[in-house]
Amino acid sequence: MKVFGVTGWKNGGKTGLMERLVSEISGRGFIVSTIKHAHHSADIDHEGTDTHRHRLAGARQVILSSPQRWAKMTEIDADQEPSLEALVARIEGADLVLVEGYKSASHPKVEAFRSANGHQPLAIRNASIVAIAAKGDVEINLPLFDLDDTNAVADYVLAQVGLSKGPVQANVGTKKLKNDCFALPQGVDWVPVDEALARLKSRLVPVASVETIATRDANGRILAQSVEAKRSNPPVANSAVDGYGFAFDTLPQDLSLELAQGRSAAGDPFKGQVPLGQAARILTGAILPSGVDTVVLQEEVTLSDGRVHLSGAPKRGSNTRKAGEDVIAGSDVLQSGQKLRPVDLALLTAVGVPSVQAFTRLRIGVLSTGDELVDAGATELSDHNTFDANRPMLLSLIESWGYQPVDMGLAPDTPQAIEQRLNAFSDKVDAILTSGGASAGDEDHISQILRTKGDLTSWRIAVKPGRPLALAMWNGTPVFGLPGNPVAALVCALIFGRPALSLLAGSGWKEPQGFMVPAAFTKSKKHGRREYLRARMNQSGHVEVFQSEGSGRISGLSWADGLVELPDEGAEIRAGDLVRYLPYSSFGL
Ligand code: AMP
Ligand code: MG
Repeated sequence: MKVFGVTGWKNGGKTGLMERLVSEISGRGFIVSTIKHAHHSADIDHEGTDTHRHRLAGARQVILSSPQRWAKMTEIDADQEPSLEALVARIEGADLVLVEGYKSASHPKVEAFRSANGHQPLAIRNASIVAIAAKGDVEINLPLFDLDDTNAVADYVLAQVGLSKGPVQANVGTKKLKNDCFALPQGVDWVPVDEALARLKSRLVPVASVETIATRDANGRILAQSVEAKRSNPPVANSAVDGYGFAFDTLPQDLSLELAQGRSAAGDPFKGQVPLGQAARILTGAILPSGVDTVVLQEEVTLSDGRVHLSGAPKRGSNTRKAGEDVIAGSDVLQSGQKLRPVDLALLTAVGVPSVQAFTRLRIGVLSTGDELVDAGATELSDHNTFDANRPMLLSLIESWGYQPVDMGLAPDTPQAIEQRLNAFSDKVDAILTSGGASAGDEDHISQILRTKGDLTSWRIAVKPGRPLALAMWNGTPVFGLPGNPVAALVCALIFGRPALSLLAGSGWKEPQGFMVPAAFTKSKKHGRREYLRARMNQSGHVEVFQSEGSGRISGLSWADGLVELPDEGAEIRAGDLVRYLPYSSFGL
């Protein structure tokens, strides 16, 4: 069951929007149910009703039923109000549950907003609000709809919950990120990792466009539309084994049948009908001839005198595959946002889908900055030179994620050089990753230039390793300024870059799959920031960490097979304690 919410200030128009959405979406053939939170002063039952009298007398649950509808009321203690999840679980058989209120619950919501009421949108402080339906001006980088454009809001809600068959977003194919996309509210200093992730998630939308692509060529591509089976699998009933087929109802007591003339093989069906009381030779994958509903394995029969003798009584329909038992024509086989894998291509092909609507491959530029950096292979080296290790790492990472890497080269630490590179590439790529120069020091030119010309926001994320993440828009293209240290650059690319890029690419927010495993190390960790340690599993199934946490130690990146994530809170980790291990493979490496 899909859940989507409507929230907003009092008199912002929530209930009206709920009403219109329920009507519009159920009008489109979906079953819609709703949940509404009432405040202390409001009650479900009223003095003077019969049910009120039952309740007052001490009934724990009261059901009120009429020929039109019924309701069940349950008494709870004030501090035991059920969670939204528990309430959703009580709704039966809906396609979509629309929730009014519950603004701090995590499900995605649209905010009904009237600027004339003089408030700021709740969305500024609430990352679960993913769109605004407004009357009047709103300055916020979220998908924005007219409060009365019910059709558009309904399209959006259905696309968000994966119920629509249309494109994921109205703004597919055009760069629709606003220049202040990464702005933080005033006064925000250190941003916890989860909050940084929630903010990125709420501000980015797919920017890739949509194209038709042959299924054969679609490995790694992201579906922009759900796909319906064109044909059932199997299209008609067939045999699951090599054996003999007959009509179950005609099997005599002695389990012996006359062998019919002819046979049914895959690609070479039986001609005509198998006469009642006879059994025909049938091979795996062959169509069940007319007159056959049951097949016995060839190993379970003996043949003599032109007859087939079964060694035991079969079950009706045994060893057969029913038409459409796997997939029925017309049903959705894959949802929009799905990244296609070889197995998905098999499914699409089997159900008769030769081409799909897919997002174009995102193009991601990678730029390294720093006067000390030289390209791999440079021979004229000074002691102050450093090989540019980040660029091959980030370009390859992008390739592993299925996007098109675009090499923007190496820029020295001058504002002109950096600006020239950004200008040269910003209209050729969908997003840019830079590394180096992202702090606020004298030589941190990336942040300087982005601050003056690119609406930079430095996000001081409470994470180790990692310094401020510089987020900016350059000519409408988002720029993710990663730290220069390769260890910090990788951690920031995996933790923040990967989910952000996958949203831009149309495949939705991607969180890595983590595993709780026993530690093979001890560590004392202070409160206040999340830490990522280079780690790998040892032979005995414990996770060990690299001996040094120095973020210049590139060898540790390669030594590791993943990261251990330690929580924001302080912790004393002893050997054997469970810690969260995120293998590199969970990040698509
Ligand atoms: P920065 O963030 O520019 O202050 O750089 C921090 C550290 O990372 C410095 O020691 C840089 O030399 C190093 N560094 C920056 N970019 C790269 C890179 N592309 N490859 C290797 N090391 C780098
Ligand atoms: Mg530098």
